Amino acid sequence: MRQSKMFIPTLKEVPADAESASHRLLLRGGFIRQNAAGIYSYLPLGYKIIKKIEQIIREEMDRTGAQELLMPAMQPAELWHESGRWDVYGPELMRLKDRHGRFFALGATGEELVTSLVRDTLNTYKKLPMAVYQIQTKYRDEKRPRFGLLRGREFIMKDAYSFHADEESLDEAYWKIFNAYKHVFDRCGLKYRAVLADSGAMGGKDTHEFQALAEIGEDTIAYSDQSDYAANLEMAPVVGQSVEGSRHTAQERIGQRGRQPVPAGQELALYGFKTRTETILVLVRAEDEVNDVKVKNVLGTDLLEPIENDQLPDPFYHDDKVRILADQGIRTLTGAGFYNQADDTTYINVDPERDLQITHYHDLRFVKEGDPSPDGKGTIRFAKGIEVGQVFKLGTKYSEAMGALFLDDQGKSHPLIMGCYGIGVSRTLSAICEQYHDENGLMWPKALAPFQVHLITVNPKKQEQAQLSEKLYQELLSHGFDVLWDDRKERPGVKFADSDLIGCPVQLVVGKGAGQDLVEAGSRQNASEGRTEFPASELLRTVDQLLETAK
Ligand code: ATP
Ligand code: MG
Repeated sequence: MRQSKMFIPTLKEVPADAESASHRLLLRGGFIRQNAAGIYSYLPLGYKIIKKIEQIIREEMDRTGAQELLMPAMQPAELWHESGRWDVYGPELMRLKDRHGRFFALGATGEELVTSLVRDTLNTYKKLPMAVYQIQTKYRDEKRPRFGLLRGREFIMKDAYSFHADEESLDEAYWKIFNAYKHVFDRCGLKYRAVLADSGAMGGKDTHEFQALAEIGEDTIAYSDQSDYAANLEMAPVVGQSVEGSRHTAQERIGQRGRQPVPAGQELALYGFKTRTETILVLVRAEDEVNDVKVKNVLGTDLLEPIENDQLPDPFYHDDKVRILADQGIRTLTGAGFYNQADDTTYINVDPERDLQITHYHDLRFVKEGDPSPDGKGTIRFAKGIEVGQVFKLGTKYSEAMGALFLDDQGKSHPLIMGCYGIGVSRTLSAICEQYHDENGLMWPKALAPFQVHLITVNPKKQEQAQLSEKLYQELLSHGFDVLWDDRKERPGVKFADSDLIGCPVQLVVGKGAGQDLVEAGSRQNASEGRTEFPASELLRTVDQLLETAK
């Protein structure tokens, strides 16, 4: 493609709210343009990359036996009423009304639609298992759309759904698609971890997220420094409990007004929550942080509202309506210090077993860096991640609610067992940018680069440069290379800057050496190594070599 003809509106200035490298560089390089908050156009360069990611996803999904289809983005509200999500999804669900006053949702995801499609057709075990997928635009009216394509309000998702007669069959599909996702992200050149994730208190089924490693990531991953154990921070269990407190059981607890100093490592902290039916107090060591996901899972509730500090009930006052749970880490703690908000008093010599009506000890805190890894191998470390994909064993939540039933070989009726599987296509593009850039621009992995080769003619007005460039361009094209040829009449500085911004793996420069048939070649990913000169007759070998060594 001749750059003079291509629509690449690069930008010198980017909006101040472009906080992440991917957002800035995709805007500056002319890959995307913003149309409204969280809503973007994919320009020709950006769309080329999207299509490459989609192609990789298609190949890997097809290999699992899943079939591609395309469902509408506009979904009748009745389906969302049937599943019950019209009311619980909240303001993130974009809703609209047609001319007849009928309501629709712009699909945030596709469980309702796909369940309605199969409920009349997948009515016998003989047709199971079955899996379908689509690549379709999704809509979520995110509270804080940000980081460009990372958290958009309109974005591209690959969503897949599988249907089964039994759990074993679901398990098989789950791991097949799990492995397909690994292939997808490996082929994209992404550095990622597949992590155990929380499936919500009520479901309790398997789920993994694929987290691309990046500083800008909103999720924290707890991983082992010596094995491939990895989990979302809220999921990682705490194993092997710590230090004993000193024994003070003979003494009464002593109170002193106000907030007083307490010896480090000996302090208790109290948190309070309300569920739909009860008030729960949770005790942890003050240096630990209570993990509300663990509290939810222990209680089997999906609703847990924190109680403000100044509203906390008095834990020493025994109230039947208030249950006290404690983190297992304080089981061994005695002679502790505790500032009680309820009576503005600091107590010392607190023995939780003796002084507080603790009903249960559980693992209720977040893991910390330095804790032992739950698999017994190594130590926990933290990393930041961007969720690029998720696989989820849904079970019968939607099939039950929406009456999607099948007959087994005995003629008995059951709800279909379902799995769902998502990849954020546009988010993956941004995650790649977060991992493949330097201060001058992007450095695309070769599997996704918009072009493999960027051919730059320093001064196209010079005949020998123009002629040699044309010759190289044609030779590359005829050998199947995808080439962007900068034939523009621009200053060399502008051209080199744009080339680094666009970030094709191989950069070829036709300049002063053209008269002697000499060309310069460089690798964008190894920009620090500079460019080397080679004779034009070595073109194919040189380009092949540079592509070979690129990631
Ligand atoms: P998040 O926790 O980041 O909001 P999610 O868990 O709600 O995401 P899913 O419902 O699992 O998202 O959707 C499947 C995939 O779609 C996600 O793994 C992610 O890659 C992508 N995705 C979700 N929300 C967005 C968004 N606002 N912009 C871009 N991609 C998104
Ligand atoms: Mg998710």
